[in-house]
Amino acid sequence: MQVIVVGGGASGLVAAIVAARKGGTVTIIEKNNKLGKKLYLTGNGRCNFWHEDLNINDYITSDKEILQSIIATTKNKVLPFFTNLGLVYKVINGYYYPFSNQATSLINALTRCLETLKVTIKLNEEVLTITKEKDFTIQTNKDIYHADKLILAGGGMAAPKTGSTGEVLTLASKLGHSINKVYPALVSLNGSGKYYAIWDGVRSETQVTLYIDNTKIREEIGEVQFTKTGLSGICIFNLSNYVTPALIQNKKVMININFVPWFKGTPQEFKKWLDSVASKNQAFPLGYILEGFLNYKISNLLLKLIGADAKTLWSSCNQEKLLNLLFSFPFEVTSTNSFEKAQVSGGGIPLSEINPKTMESLKCPDLYLTGEILDVTGFCGGYNLGFAWMSGLNAGEGCCQND
Ligand SMILES: Cc1cc2nc3c(=O)[nH]c(=O)nc-3n(C[C@H](O)[C@H](O)[C@H](O)COP(=O)(O)OP(=O)(O)OC[C@H]3O[C@@H](n4cnc5c(N)ncnc54)[C@H](O)[C@@H]3O)c2cc1C
Repeated sequence: MQVIVVGGGASGLVAAIVAARKGGTVTIIEKNNKLGKKLYLTGNGRCNFWHEDLNINDYITSDKEILQSIIATTKNKVLPFFTNLGLVYKVINGYYYPFSNQATSLINALTRCLETLKVTIKLNEEVLTITKEKDFTIQTNKDIYHADKLILAGGGMAAPKTGSTGEVLTLASKLGHSINKVYPALVSLNGSGKYYAIWDGVRSETQVTLYIDNTKIREEIGEVQFTKTGLSGICIFNLSNYVTPALIQNKKVMININFVPWFKGTPQEFKKWLDSVASKNQAFPLGYILEGFLNYKISNLLLKLIGADAKTLWSSCNQEKLLNLLFSFPFEVTSTNSFEKAQVSGGGIPLSEINPKTMESLKCPDLYLTGEILDVTGFCGGYNLGFAWMSGLNAGEGCCQND
């Protein structure tokens, strides 16, 4: 059984190993000069490759039931797969990393296994066209190949410098698949406010809540990065997964920022607390009081927005407006950053076009689809690699199941 895997990234490497173990004669065609180029960047080089309680709520997809069935049947196979390769891992707050803290450990474990299994690896070869008659004919910039089974593992469109530029989606569409709109996800957000120059560079523990057309969608607490064009950081990345589909439909996308998430009471109770701080330190201007709990750039911004300055007294400022801004600063999202800056892409081939047990296409027999080309987008925490491994395991097994 000749199996060709297009794309030597996360899902392709796993699919190739499993297919070779099942007796397939496997070739990986990868356009980069090395395998797993994107994997080196994951988790800031540490590779957050899995999450302790990975489940359906950690993903956005057009087909929740199908994804649920993939998770249910395959989730328990992932860690044994890596353990069998000799990878030792550690778990920090539910996030899994190689014990070495280096993505290289995981990539080397995969590539050494491919060598042992005598998988043929074609680097610097880009697949240009695929046709299917009795078998598949795959034309690259260097050669022509034939395969009984074909696994498309070419990734989505995020971080195109790592090789995932979306052409495999086009190849899949020529083989009969539809593509749900592909958009940048896990990405920073832009707004239209005039105040970004003031908060640029701040990193602050903040609560952010996403509203689409006034409906609350998701809330995050953690470090938010304030940038020249808007907001960034893991909390914002998680909110970003919902943004493009909403903006395309002309929906209003708002993030309310709570700058005082450590205060567990109401704004009125916070007012009493500020009253007492001000009364104990009567000489203190408002600037001093705010700097007790806020980054000074944020404090300067809030003062400007209420028409005050650092010397204004608490008793003489617009207290209601200040409290509103502290608890619920309105940030209107106008766009996301581009694919170049995104960690993943949303959208892709709908799961309804594959058999979830094998990842085989329902549109083109003997074709298998894995990873980010499918319409499955995880939040931060190891879920995107999680889906790459699960879909790769199913495809590798599925394509050689009769051997
Ligand atoms: C900076 C960054 C950090 C990330 N951190 C994490 C993290 O910590 N945890 C997590 O879970 N996820 C993380 N992700 C997301 C995760 O890396 C991806 O979701 C995952 O790699 C997708 O796997 P894949 O197999 O679908 O595609 P990829 O890993 O992108 O692999 C696709 C491969 O196909 C090749 N290819 C494409 N077209 C062709 C062609 N025509 N011919 C030949 N080869 C082709 C590409 O060169 C590429 O090597 C991160 C992503 C980025 C960009």
